[in-house]
Amino acid sequence: MARINPEFTDELKKYGAFDPNACYNCGNCTAVCTLSDENNSFPRKMVRYSVLGLDSEIKASLDPWLCYYCGECSSTCPREADPGELMMSLRRWLIAKYDWTGLSGLLYKYLVASVSAFILLAVAVIWFGYYESFHLETIMHYGHYFEMGAISVVFLFILLPNIIHMWWLTTYKPGVKVPLSAYFRCLSDLLVHMFTQKRTLGCDDNQVRWFEHFVLVLGYLLLLFTTVFLDWFSSQSLFVIILGYIESVIIFVVTFDFIRRRIQKDQEISKHSHPSDWFFVIWLFLMGLSAFFVRLFVDLNILENNIWLYLVHLIILVQWALIIVPFGKWTHFLYRSFAIYFATLQQAAIKQNGKKS
Ligand code: SF4
Ligand code: SF4
Repeated sequence: MARINPEFTDELKKYGAFDPNACYNCGNCTAVCTLSDENNSFPRKMVRYSVLGLDSEIKASLDPWLCYYCGECSSTCPREADPGELMMSLRRWLIAKYDWTGLSGLLYKYLVASVSAFILLAVAVIWFGYYESFHLETIMHYGHYFEMGAISVVFLFILLPNIIHMWWLTTYKPGVKVPLSAYFRCLSDLLVHMFTQKRTLGCDDNQVRWFEHFVLVLGYLLLLFTTVFLDWFSSQSLFVIILGYIESVIIFVVTFDFIRRRIQKDQEISKHSHPSDWFFVIWLFLMGLSAFFVRLFVDLNILENNIWLYLVHLIILVQWALIIVPFGKWTHFLYRSFAIYFATLQQAAIKQNGKKS
């Protein structure tokens, strides 16, 4: 039997700006949403679940992840209930529920917790610089190892368990019997969606946004590869040096455009910005920009006398890797791709069970 949580909407409001109680169930949002079909009423079902406080049903659902926030539903809602922002808030709430450490919820709900975490890490990096007598080569050496270590530790100890938790909540617990072979067969779907985010194209007028996201994901992943595995800051290879410059420029130019849109609020998606949205775009912008200048200072042979620049870059990198990637908006990239994968698995299970009966 469904359990109702009367405090749910109050809790959810801490994750975003919307008014689900304004909804009078007219169905306009469902009529315009391209994801709606005869079996699934997007986004109205999630609005109803939220109003009724059916938090277990929401936890078991993949729907919030399938929405790409085109904002059509919000702009056609006669009651300004803002269903698009509700879906966004549900995604943040779900991230907090998947996260076994509980830190995502803390950081999403309390700005002071996020700011304290950022300050704490900045102090730790400065202290480390001081401990190493601000010796550039040593700090850069550890900075490089930090990148490698952080990727593995964050993935193995935080992201992987959280993805398994997501699978348990959305697939295993509701009793979906997925044939083992489907997990392998559908892996290509996971990879395609992860790297192309092509589902965004399902919403109208999203081609430019999709292209920007695609270029940004590509630039980000390539820069990660170039700095971690090709050691961009120390490399002597002209190809690697130019590649790194191009990737870092892509990152700060595209994210600058994202920041501009959030300031101008010229699209439905950028009307409401949670602090986590600001952290994501600003930190990504700063990462691209600071990386670009670090390499430029290396090439101009002036980094030795401007070690502060590398320290600033390292602070941004550490905050990004230990706050935003494991607990913040970066996780959307992962959960959204896995949600599509799990949804495909569920369809495979339905097909298989249909054949048996
Ligand atoms: S359009 Fe607005 S009022 Fe109508 S069902 Fe959707 S959220 Fe509710
Ligand atoms: S934001 Fe777009 S995709 Fe998401 S529920 Fe609304 S209409 Fe559908």
